[in-house]
Amino acid sequence: MSNTDFVLAVEDLTVAFDGFKAIDNLTLYIDRGELRVIIGPNGAGKTTLLDLICGKTKASAGSIKFKNHEMTKLPEHKIVRAGIGRKFQTPSIYENLSVFKNLEVSFPSGRSVFGALGFRCTDEVKARVQAVAQEIGLADQLHTESGLLSHGQKQWLEIGMLLMQDPELLMLDEPIAGMSPRERELTAELLKRIAQNRSVIVIEHDMDFVKQIAHKVTVMHQGKILAEGPMEKVQADPKVIDVYLGH
Ligand code: ADP
Ligand code: MG
Repeated sequence: MSNTDFVLAVEDLTVAFDGFKAIDNLTLYIDRGELRVIIGPNGAGKTTLLDLICGKTKASAGSIKFKNHEMTKLPEHKIVRAGIGRKFQTPSIYENLSVFKNLEVSFPSGRSVFGALGFRCTDEVKARVQAVAQEIGLADQLHTESGLLSHGQKQWLEIGMLLMQDPELLMLDEPIAGMSPRERELTAELLKRIAQNRSVIVIEHDMDFVKQIAHKVTVMHQGKILAEGPMEKVQADPKVIDVYLGH
């Protein structure tokens, strides 16, 4: 396919593990500034799809274009540098460091004036840490040791660490698992704010949460797309009720 306006164009993507196609000839397009939610039963291939986009798993066939550049042959760190950030299910923050330090070390060193000379806390980095801390609701906790944060706050901190890299596409795998109802609400607001100036892909099971945030919903089943569209349309689709929502 030729150049498109999509931030992400996944086409005819397949990955097989010992002959089993976890992703089976899948095609998916994400708009700039879109917040897409992917749902589907366990084992549908949702996490594997994110693994392929971020380069953790290599495709058997097909194409993944980010802003019209092919990603399938790139190593993970180059995909990150191209502007794709990925949050895994378990947070990987430095528990013994402050919120400030966790954000500071996530600033891409290559982009700092002093990057090549070893890390220096420049005004630029400090300003960015402040802005991100504000965005994730942790501006009052900058000097708190991260291990002392609530489960939800740790998740937000990890999102903040990704935002430090200013990705154009942010992908999150089940971000509200284990969160309190209030933390879920705040996370919905956070993701909507983030999607105001970047694209976001979220995998989630909680349908109330999905309803709150999704622009469009993609339903996966057996490595393929079963349905796609606005939440109301997908929810009313008999195929979707049959394999997922009905259970
Ligand atoms: P979901 O996130 O939708 O629950 P996954 O993407 O984790 O589903 O898994 C899809 C299928 O692919 C599952 O059957 C899983 O066992 C299989 N799978 C995922 N990763 C691997 C791997 N590295 N090796 C073998 N099988 C895998
Ligand atoms: Mg999964």
